[in-house]
Amino acid sequence: ALYCGIVGLPNVGKSTLFNALTRAKIAAENYPFCTIDPNVGVVPVPDSRMDKLAEIVKPERMLPTTIEFVDIAGLVAGASKGEGLGNQFLANIRETDAIAHVVRCFQDDNVIHVAGKIDPLSDIEVINTELALADMASVEKALLRASKAARTGNKDEQAKKDVLEKVFKQLDSGEPARTLPLTEDEKALIRDLCLMTLKPAMYIANVQDDGFENNPLLDKVQALAEKEGAMVVPICAAIEAEIAQLDEEEKKEFLDDLGLEEPGLNRVVRAGYKLLNLATYFTAGVKEVRAWTIPVGATAPQAAGVIHSDFEKGFIRAEVIAYQDFIDYKGEQGAKDAGKWRLEGKDYIVKDGDVVHFRFNV
Ligand code: GDP
Repeated sequence: ALYCGIVGLPNVGKSTLFNALTRAKIAAENYPFCTIDPNVGVVPVPDSRMDKLAEIVKPERMLPTTIEFVDIAGLVAGASKGEGLGNQFLANIRETDAIAHVVRCFQDDNVIHVAGKIDPLSDIEVINTELALADMASVEKALLRASKAARTGNKDEQAKKDVLEKVFKQLDSGEPARTLPLTEDEKALIRDLCLMTLKPAMYIANVQDDGFENNPLLDKVQALAEKEGAMVVPICAAIEAEIAQLDEEEKKEFLDDLGLEEPGLNRVVRAGYKLLNLATYFTAGVKEVRAWTIPVGATAPQAAGVIHSDFEKGFIRAEVIAYQDFIDYKGEQGAKDAGKWRLEGKDYIVKDGDVVHFRFNV
């Protein structure tokens, strides 16, 4: 599975957000180092398309797909030098596949800020600097090794050295590795380093309940993110935590009162899904309508492999109906009658929303 790590300074609302996401009860106290172990939460991915499919198929049950979030304890300035359990936290971030960077944009005198003031841009800078410094240290070490090995005439090591030098220059100029245009081959050469600034990242701006508009703190984060080409998801973690505790009926009432269609958490989940470059396909039978996760660009056999490895090995063909066709023609028979039912082979790239039935040998 791919993991989205929730990263940020202490006391910005990471645990509050994580708990709301997973409805787990992990300590979220007003204390910088209360969340030491990284916690993994498996979160269902909200997808209204499933309801539409279910209206047609009337299945016994519906199973959404999931995404994994990891709650990583707060990073502090100096983490790359081992401050505040820094090495441990950085190791946890290296293991993730994408970074959701939570930034405090709420005022609350009862919640201590590690730097003593609310300044999202300086907070972002602190975190990004620590990640960049730690990456630089990894690159330097690898560069030393690659240089030695390259001297023996090893071509691969020479190529690796060239990439590492480029990355080092980039980091040294204060830019994250992700903004450096690298080919897939170049990325593969340095994959083992798990560079943190190479991972896709987004900002989660934790605002007050009335802080979604006319909020200069949020505006600043948005302006910075735009420059970086990063997504920003504004959210009020405190409210999300409250919503998450309600039962379905209360939840609906609460959201109606706020004039909202869905909890803000859904936007976080979907943004994480997008950040990880994931897509969804569906299987739709009377037993169940189910969503499955694939990396964008997965072929039909790879998609089949998500259900079961035997499906991939024994793959013959995929019966495919595009989501919109399935809805427009009211199910499989209708889509067939309209000529919208296709048989696809092993090179087919599964599209987001495809309703698929696999044929395979056992
Ligand atoms: P973490 O250290 O980043 O994991 O932060 P926590 O989730 O533990 O939150 C730290 C404190 O801030 C807790 O007392 C939370 O109740 C509070 N908090 C979190 N989100 C919000 C918010 O959106 N608004 C306000 N006012 N307080 C929040």
